[in-house]
Amino acid sequence: MNYRHEYHAGNFADVHKHIALMAALRHLKKKAKPFAVIDTHAGRGLYALDSDEACRSGEAADGIAKFRNYEPQSPLLREYLDMVRSFGPAKYPGSPLIVAKSLRLQDRCAAIEKHPAEFAALRQTLVPFRQAGAIEGDGYLLLPRQLPPKESRGLVLIDPPYEEPDEFARLGQTVPAAVRKFATGVYLIWYPLKLASRVDALAGELLAAGVTDLLKPTMDVGCEPNAGNRLSAAGLLVINPPYEFDAEMRAASDEILPLLARGPAAHAAVEWVARRT
Ligand code: SAM
Repeated sequence: MNYRHEYHAGNFADVHKHIALMAALRHLKKKAKPFAVIDTHAGRGLYALDSDEACRSGEAADGIAKFRNYEPQSPLLREYLDMVRSFGPAKYPGSPLIVAKSLRLQDRCAAIEKHPAEFAALRQTLVPFRQAGAIEGDGYLLLPRQLPPKESRGLVLIDPPYEEPDEFARLGQTVPAAVRKFATGVYLIWYPLKLASRVDALAGELLAAGVTDLLKPTMDVGCEPNAGNRLSAAGLLVINPPYEFDAEMRAASDEILPLLARGPAAHAAVEWVARRT
């Protein structure tokens, strides 16, 4: 486990993923009934944008830093930027912190992290949030124990680093089984777009497991010359996207794309893989 999200926090892919996360959370909060969030690959929760790692990679400078003070049109984008700005100019919140700060008294979050140092930092980050708990361990193994949540409503975020060759095999074992246990949950599964054919195969496995509503929001910021292996396109598989999630994601992505674009080939899309009629 060499992956450290400190190098990548606040890059365009984090921005895109966290806007989707905020969109799902705001829909869950439309009803007073409690909900649960399970974050299987949580990371440390809060990242310093002036750390050696962030400065060396320059990814946040090419991501959130480009539009931190932008005044958005999209209400979803406004909510996301208000959330990010609430941690000050030198910090970027990760998914468990965004969730923890969004929860109401009746909601809860289980944030799972395997890397011991990241877990220790996560536990500290979540201390002020009584409804958010950090769990140390393997997100794929621990997810089934969390499902179905007693609240019967909720969100599962699966955000692996894709550093292991068996990542898709593990997703293919874990997610269809999770959906069988908690069929009505909203699931957000992040992936780099260079693995598109593996993502299509996973989508097929999800449909075979009975998923009827599957959305694919993607963002490609365009390649720069000599960019090497630098990530330039990423997406999400969203199982059971809430009502109007697609339109809200489309509006936010279209608005943000010109601010993040690295070249003329940049584009964003929100496509239905399957939709109940
Ligand atoms: N979700 C976070 C966010 O949006 O702020 C970023 C997570 S980062 C992409 C992936 C994290 O998963 C890393 O912190 C890594 O240590 C952790 N990790 C790797 N394999 C894991 C596993 N099998 N179970 C749980 N965590 C894992």
